[in-house]
Amino acid sequence: MTSQPTTDLNGDVLRPGDPDYDAARAVFNAMIDRKPLAILRCRQAADVARGIAFARENDLALSVRGGGHNVAGNAVCDGGIMLDLSPMKDLRVDPDHLRAHAGPGLLLGDLDRATQHHGLAVPLGVMSKTGIAGLTLGGGLGWLNGRYGLACDNLVGAEVVTADADVLHVSEDEHADLLWGLRGGGGNFGVVTSFTYQLHPVGPVYAGALTYPWAMAADALRFHDQFMARAPDELVTAVSIALDLSGVPQVSIGVCWCGHPDEGLNVLRPLRAFGPPVHDTIAPMPYVALQSAPDAGFPLGWLHYWKSGYLRHLTDAATDTLLEIAAAMPPGSSGIGMQGLRGAASRVAVDATAFPHRATQYDFLILAQWADRDDSPRNIAWARDSFTAMEPHLEHAVYVNNLGTEGPDRIRAAYGPNYPKLAEIKYRYDPANTFRLNQNVSPVSQ
Ligand SMILES: Cc1cc2nc3c(=O)[nH]c(=O)nc-3n(C[C@H](O)[C@H](O)[C@H](O)COP(=O)(O)OP(=O)(O)OC[C@H]3O[C@@H](n4cnc5c(N)ncnc54)[C@H](O)[C@@H]3O)c2cc1C
Repeated sequence: MTSQPTTDLNGDVLRPGDPDYDAARAVFNAMIDRKPLAILRCRQAADVARGIAFARENDLALSVRGGGHNVAGNAVCDGGIMLDLSPMKDLRVDPDHLRAHAGPGLLLGDLDRATQHHGLAVPLGVMSKTGIAGLTLGGGLGWLNGRYGLACDNLVGAEVVTADADVLHVSEDEHADLLWGLRGGGGNFGVVTSFTYQLHPVGPVYAGALTYPWAMAADALRFHDQFMARAPDELVTAVSIALDLSGVPQVSIGVCWCGHPDEGLNVLRPLRAFGPPVHDTIAPMPYVALQSAPDAGFPLGWLHYWKSGYLRHLTDAATDTLLEIAAAMPPGSSGIGMQGLRGAASRVAVDATAFPHRATQYDFLILAQWADRDDSPRNIAWARDSFTAMEPHLEHAVYVNNLGTEGPDRIRAAYGPNYPKLAEIKYRYDPANTFRLNQNVSPVSQ
């Protein structure tokens, strides 16, 4: 803190010592333990504007919390102002125009439930407790990406409070440069107080998981990779490797077919026949059931350390390394994930949105999570060593929403060739870098 605040921060404010302060400053990743000077619980754009003006006037750090799920924990700051957007849960679904207008405090499950009421959905992520805000602004990769693209591809408008505390209405017709930046450029340009999404008809889906014993892991991974190279856009898969109850790794292939269920039955037949798997849970199900299926595997209050990149080619050498790092996984609940990015999401031009990773590939994630702080060194070492081993097989690129605090080179790798354009937009909307507690783009004048 550099100086005493010169004005009062009115409204719904929590300060150290207030009963709800500790709960409000907690984020999903329990590694993060920061203490803001004040937490402003925002209910409308005017609250956000007031918080931004106050932070700037008093030269205080400013952090922005949507769902609080980001592993880097930038939603909360030490000694500054935390804008808590979680009370902003306004939601209006307009089935006639296929639009949803959604507040930044909503979680995926909130939006999915409301849109599915009309047989519609926004392509989001795969876990219902994640916040829509950070997920969308970083990209948003989920089960519908092959058919309908990423969450950011379906962001058609937004209300944004800028660093000057102005409220802008952003669309293809107004501030189109800003809309481009919001589609993958993270929270660099302002605070989004409302998201407008394109909706699509979805559900029920044909989904579930195929599980293979460790002895079949290499063959299952190869078969799946070759099978998906020819699969229709409606099919998206996510591979995960985790320890079973006896501490032996197993491979699980999660699938979601979002076309007609009968067609999914035929398309998936070869994949289900391979092996065969020891468990096959694939069945028609409501989309919201699929979206909440992984929730229990990621309890609140656990510690997280992630390392990530994109895997484009599952070569034999990459498979061998993958099996080696999986076999060294510490006991507990960690895992390795390979979430498919494909179809519609892969065909968008690299410069059409800020999200640059447009190719058929896996979002490859080494996800260490554990409950006991004493286990931190072992889990962090495993994630780091595993990433070092896998790095030669990965692209020089990373999904911004998987990044921890990893330095400027990794941030550049997250924005890729779109970094220079993002830096110009940043200069236009936030030249003083008020919004810097994020995977930060430095403002650059043209
Ligand atoms: C268990 C788990 C599962 C996940 N699964 C997926 C998945 O399937 N697909 C996927 O794509 N991602 C997934 N993610 C990653 C997820 O996209 C990011 O963690 C994302 O940042 C979460 O958004 P949030 O609003 O909850 O995060 P927060 O921590 O609240 O916000 C993250 C950052 O976004 C910015 N921000 C947030 N809200 C706003 C706003 N309204 N205006 C401007 N900036 C804002 C801020 O810079 C903030 O620091 C998952 C994460 C977890 C923990």
